[in-house]
Amino acid sequence: MSGCVFCEIIEGRRDAEKVYEDDLVVAFKDANPIAPIHVLVVPRRHVPTLNDLPEGDPILSHIGSVARKIAEQYGVAESGYRFFINVNRGGGQVVFHLHAHVVAGRNMAQYLIRATIGMIVAWKRLVKWIWP
Ligand code: 5GP
Ligand code: ZN
Repeated sequence: MSGCVFCEIIEGRRDAEKVYEDDLVVAFKDANPIAPIHVLVVPRRHVPTLNDLPEGDPILSHIGSVARKIAEQYGVAESGYRFFINVNRGGGQVVFHLHAHVVAGRNMAQYLIRATIGMIVAWKRLVKWIWP
């Protein structure tokens, strides 16, 4: 789809460090990683969000299998990794071509605690700013 950065990467019109590809998906390193290992698993066909995927579409399970393979490839399948999909703006989605994140390489529990504390602090500041 024109104007979609992930379609550009899939079609080879934009650079990305690919780590896996097959007939259905392409996986490449995130340009702004939040952890030492941050890979995006992206279906070749343009589907904007998880909400647009027909019910029972097998691509989701394939994305899961590929994520597991990538985790094995990086040697973190046993130690652990995060696997998530952001849906729409409220869910943190920025690129509207369905993709799953595979994130690891840092103590994720510690990371989640810090991120949660950061969010609480930001919310407190915002509330104080609105109702001083
Ligand atoms: P979202 O927030 O939509 O779930 O995640 C989009 C992700 O795509 C972000 O983590 C962002 O860093 C990554 N990203 C955006 N543009 C590019 C790009 O051109 N190349 C690569 N490799 N990653 C990108
Ligand atoms: Zn696309």
